[in-house]
Amino acid sequence: MSATVSGTTRVTGVFGCPVGHSQSPAMHNAAFAQMGLDFVYVPFDVHPDNLKAAVTGIRALNMVGVNVTIPHKERVIPFLNWVSDEALQIQSVNTIHLVDGKLRGYSTDGEGLIRALEASGKSPSGSKSVILGAGGSARAAAAALTLHGAEVAVANRTFSRALELAETLAVRPIALDSDDAREAILNADLLVNCTSVGMYPKTDDQPIPGEWLHKNLFVFDTIYNPLETRLLAAAKSAGCRTANGVKMLVFQGAISFKIWTGLDPPAEVMEKAVLAGLQTRP
Ligand code: NAP
Repeated sequence: MSATVSGTTRVTGVFGCPVGHSQSPAMHNAAFAQMGLDFVYVPFDVHPDNLKAAVTGIRALNMVGVNVTIPHKERVIPFLNWVSDEALQIQSVNTIHLVDGKLRGYSTDGEGLIRALEASGKSPSGSKSVILGAGGSARAAAAALTLHGAEVAVANRTFSRALELAETLAVRPIALDSDDAREAILNADLLVNCTSVGMYPKTDDQPIPGEWLHKNLFVFDTIYNPLETRLLAAAKSAGCRTANGVKMLVFQGAISFKIWTGLDPPAEVMEKAVLAGLQTRP
């Protein structure tokens, strides 16, 4: 955050419901402060009934833009003037930018995942990957991984949602609790958990049996609270290389930051802010 909020301070933020758990304000404000930018990032708890009014407010208040999080990423699309091809394909917007009075929508989750994988030493190109889940983050992950040359299977509890995803993206749909899922994981070198299974407060849950994990797998859990999920602990025991969702959170935020400011933020400052924020929460 700039040292003081003044008449010239530019406003960004996040629209979510609830939004109190978000690490994004700490992460972005730390980067603004480090770079000496006169910007501030504010959490906005926007009830779904008020989403249209809130989005209209971005223009009315001449804000720089906002991030959009659960449950608004899909519903926000009709209220925007322009949406990137990627965001349209996955029907998910997590970044809005106001340019010349027009609201532009982007999705930075997928590219955030790719950068996080690369920063963790796993290149998606040519990988055989299995994504667990078929929700918003799974769609973003599937689009980004296929774009970066990975072979992708999508395993979801509700099989019809995996099938739906396969209608728009070149992925193989699988039911999560099936022999096909076990086979696909045994033959894969990358597993990306995009389900919410294992996330705080249900930290004892795990999306797949530990016996399906093997040492040739890189296991990426998009969850960052807790930092080590049951899945990641089981993966470590099986000899897998692993990464949690912190770097994905940081990189998707860094890409939003660049959309708003034209500048690359210090990712390590953002990561430090996220980790400090997570330490003060349950
Ligand atoms: P979402 O759209 O609500 O999708 C949730 C997914 O989890 C669905 O595929 C759902 O399956 C599955 N699921 C939920 N409970 C399950 C259970 N008990 N057993 C099996 N599958 C279950 O959520 P999302 O926005 O994609 O977010 C999912 C996760 O990604 C969250 O944990 C979030 O923290 C994480 N995420 C991280 C980042 C990051 O930057 N690190 C960014 C975005 C999201 P059904 O279709 O069968 O319901």
